[in-house]
Amino acid sequence: MKAVRFHEFGGPEKLRFEEVPNPKIGPTEALVRVRACALNHLDIWARGGTRSERIPLPHISGSDISGEISETGNQVSGHPKDEKVLVAPGISCGICDYCSNGWDSLCESYKIIGYETQGGYAEYVAVPGKNALPIPDRLSFEQAAAVPLVFLTAWHMLVTRAHLVPGETVLVWAAGSGVGSAAVQVAKLLGAKVITTVGSETKREKAQKLGADFVLNHHTQDIPGEIKRLTNGRKVNVVFDHIGEATWEKSIKSMAPAGRLVNCGVTSGGKTEIDIRYIFVKQFSLMGSFMGGRGELLKVLKFFEDEKLKPVVDSVFPLMEAARAQEKMEKSEHFGKIVLKVA
Ligand SMILES: [Zn+2]
Repeated sequence: MKAVRFHEFGGPEKLRFEEVPNPKIGPTEALVRVRACALNHLDIWARGGTRSERIPLPHISGSDISGEISETGNQVSGHPKDEKVLVAPGISCGICDYCSNGWDSLCESYKIIGYETQGGYAEYVAVPGKNALPIPDRLSFEQAAAVPLVFLTAWHMLVTRAHLVPGETVLVWAAGSGVGSAAVQVAKLLGAKVITTVGSETKREKAQKLGADFVLNHHTQDIPGEIKRLTNGRKVNVVFDHIGEATWEKSIKSMAPAGRLVNCGVTSGGKTEIDIRYIFVKQFSLMGSFMGGRGELLKVLKFFEDEKLKPVVDSVFPLMEAARAQEKMEKSEHFGKIVLKVA
């Protein structure tokens, strides 16, 4: 089959479009004929060699996969040939205390497909049969691939971790990112007021169309000052952060007393200073979040059936142009998900 792989860590030039052996499936696995695969920052970190000991070389990236069932192992049932599916991105044991309580991503054996295993930048991928989930009818393959990782992450952060409730106000950093575009929608679905940010004026209208109540420019505006103004001094109850170092202090300054800051990543770096006095006096909660459970993904998917949630596809590249697609992501020129179309 054709696939995009890297044989050593480095820049986008390390990605090679080449002929590789078809994956073989085990008794509990399904072989999926990939039709689309969305990019994530994870793909760029993997290729760059962050936590390189976890990445099998040569490596096929791609954690957000949609396609059709091509073949199933003899212990897999309920997946007819050619069934249209998307792939739940997390693999876990399914029986430990964490898995049993919906905390799949805390399982000792937790792996992300396409990061710690071979992924979807390819014509075929082998995944656990239970990770193949039927695609909601109205979604194309490109749209379906834009859903799993970011909507699962946003749901876990806002629902399971931060307990965002109707009437609260949330700051969502960077609506143009995949996870930001999902978070704006999930927060509106939950009945919250959403203040979000963009890095360029061309993205402002798109953020409004997602349902954001207010859109600020994080390059040209004083975010904590604007938030104070927009909320009549009350500030926000929840901050949704995936940027880290660059946004941390502004996030803290934007939070109302008893505010909750939930973070799922650090695209700008992971070191910062915390004034603990400020945390206890204001009774802030600082929360980490990492992926989410299979059960949460099943819940999220229901909202795509009647368009309460919508995939945000920025652009579609052919598989062989994966390097160009990753370069676009690294430049933050996108709004929503960049998707590779496979065959
Ligand atoms: Zn487990």
